[in-house]
Amino acid sequence: MKYDFIIIGAGPAGSIAAHKSATEGAKVALIDQDVFPRDKICGNGVSRRGLLILKRIGLENWSRQFLRPQVLRLKSPDGKILDGQADQRDSRCYGRLIPRKHLDEKLILTAIEAGAKLIEGTKVLAIELSSKSIHVFTEKYKLTSQLVILCDGSHATLTRQIGLANSLPELMAVRQYFTGDSGPKNRMEIHFEQSVLPYYCWLFPLEDGRINIGTANYTTKAIKGKVNLRETLINFTTDPTATQGRLIQAKPVGSIQGHPLRTQFGATLTHATRVLVAGDAAGLVNPLTGEGIASAMESGELAATHALHALKTGDFSDQALSVYSRDLETRYGADQRAARILRRGMSIPHLFTRAFHRLRQDRELALLIGYVIIGHKSPRLVLRPTTLLRLLT
Ligand SMILES: Cc1cc2nc3c(=O)[nH]c(=O)nc-3n(C[C@H](O)[C@H](O)[C@H](O)COP(=O)(O)OP(=O)(O)OC[C@H]3O[C@@H](n4cnc5c(N)ncnc54)[C@H](O)[C@@H]3O)c2cc1C
Repeated sequence: MKYDFIIIGAGPAGSIAAHKSATEGAKVALIDQDVFPRDKICGNGVSRRGLLILKRIGLENWSRQFLRPQVLRLKSPDGKILDGQADQRDSRCYGRLIPRKHLDEKLILTAIEAGAKLIEGTKVLAIELSSKSIHVFTEKYKLTSQLVILCDGSHATLTRQIGLANSLPELMAVRQYFTGDSGPKNRMEIHFEQSVLPYYCWLFPLEDGRINIGTANYTTKAIKGKVNLRETLINFTTDPTATQGRLIQAKPVGSIQGHPLRTQFGATLTHATRVLVAGDAAGLVNPLTGEGIASAMESGELAATHALHALKTGDFSDQALSVYSRDLETRYGADQRAARILRRGMSIPHLFTRAFHRLRQDRELALLIGYVIIGHKSPRLVLRPTTLLRLLT
């Protein structure tokens, strides 16, 4: 079977790429090894940027059924609390908590409605370039297209197989669901625990009464045994003082599950002849916040725009597609670098404590930091000299 584009991976990046390409008339196959609906290990936080994409593709009303937090609680390692209220003029500022089972299924259905063909439950084993096309070999089929958009997530098995990425994902995260949340439903929480800095434990409630609790850290620390993510999560969820009684009646639903996070944008090549890479596979997870859904959707859309241009001009060369990588760098490069600098600062306990103390005295600054942590505002805003002065003096 011959397609204009084959999109590998039907997470947010792949589905948005498929939706955009099919809407503009391209013949598209969207392939995934999973069968949908399925859950994806995630915190389910769709930031304001992500909600704007949902609005653009006609899913704003659909998204309204999911929880829109109004309070973001930050807790310091020494137990100090900071509650940020959502800006009344911008009700989307803390995003929405949309279970991935529902989000991913809805995005796929939207892509199918636009004309994309979903091929699910079959793993892509290899891709192979020929002079006039590119071949995709799954467990069941051989397919051919003009161009492949790789959206194979943080494992990035195929992206690595063809030599565009070569390192392990930088971060690992685990999460578990609980019922019986005693906290206010509209409050999500980020707890900075001393042993986890610069990362944290999150508590993200859902509309259906469950709460998603998780934590993240460096893969190298986990491999070397310097941090045990499962243990961190168990200690956190079973210590009533850590969660301030919010989980006193809570019961776990299902086991603790983990997944990597690929943050190495800049160290990943995002194009090659007849290939574009989007989403986590491109290393677009924010290294400070672990947020990646919005960037996945945005980069999927951008990849489709460049793929459509290549289809129009008939030029699928490495050089022609390099404009996509340049656009990604313009959009994400400075933010990713700023997030890394901030992360370094946040891993120094006395700096963190001093900054947190300042936030408790400066509500405006506290709101900004909350927005950065939740992926609504750019980390570059924190690195402005005036902001740094307010934060650290
Ligand atoms: C514990 C945890 C919590 C998180 N919390 C948040 C959060 O609250 N907010 C946020 O914005 N981000 C969060 N993230 C990050 C977010 O999950 C990712 O950034 C997002 O899923 C990226 O989307 P994607 O489409 O690039 O990849 P994915 O969603 O991973 O989709 C990739 C798809 O590719 C398929 N695939 C891979 N290889 C193949 C193959 N060879 N053949 C066929 N199919 C293949 C997979 O089955 C999968 O469906 C979290 C991540 C973790 C691990």
